[in-house]
Amino acid sequence: MADMRKDRDTALDALLQEIVTEVRDTQYLTGRASLSPQVMLALRQVPREAFVSEKQNAAAYLNLPLPIGYAQTISQPYIVALMTDMLEPGNDHIVLEIGTGSGYQAAILSQLVKHLYTMEVIDALAQQASDRLRRLDYRNVSVRTGDGNLGWPEHAPYDSIIVTAAAPRIPPALLEQLKPGGRLVIPVGTDHFSQDLWMIRKDSGGHLEEKNVLPVVFVPLIQQQDRS
Ligand code: SAH
Repeated sequence: MADMRKDRDTALDALLQEIVTEVRDTQYLTGRASLSPQVMLALRQVPREAFVSEKQNAAAYLNLPLPIGYAQTISQPYIVALMTDMLEPGNDHIVLEIGTGSGYQAAILSQLVKHLYTMEVIDALAQQASDRLRRLDYRNVSVRTGDGNLGWPEHAPYDSIIVTAAAPRIPPALLEQLKPGGRLVIPVGTDHFSQDLWMIRKDSGGHLEEKNVLPVVFVPLIQQQDRS
């Protein structure tokens, strides 16, 4: 038991070190040389092995996306770290995530914001993530099954919105549900092997400023009309 914990700590230290290096190496694209100490702490505190199946346990602290069933994946830790940092989360923020998946990104954000609302289109994944987050005692997260293209208007506007699946274009509902001064981080593109991670900022006058940050690989954001 003690040995297992030691192995886990060693693997986690190595992963965090790898993230630090990759963030530094991609600074020329992202404009970020390092992550905030709060984001680093959240990455240390959330047990990624609890968000993957037992079969994937040995790989939980590798800097890799992993399968979570239903043809979906838990994202690569570096990209979770980077996107979380790009949101510049604050402890009074109300945040929306589209693409709950395993619930890992949600757990990371829950450590950094006041409340996280997260939507998942595959009901079984939403149920699993919701049960898992409750079991692990992440209380400031609400999970809902639904099409993230429409956002979650009941709790809008949001201080920030993170989309963890690649959209063919930016869903207008998400721009509407963003607060003035807020940030939307979203992968955009239809190529399965490469999309662009965009950062959209809405200024205090409601004007949008868009920046293409770096190439990424995400599963596609499902369009409800494709499912019927
Ligand atoms: N953030 C997740 C990784 C998500 S993978 C994690 O930390 O594990 C992308 C997820 O987006 C998948 O679970 C997929 O089912 C979900 N998804 C795809 N299209 C969606 C849509 N239109 N609305 C909500 N969720 C969607």
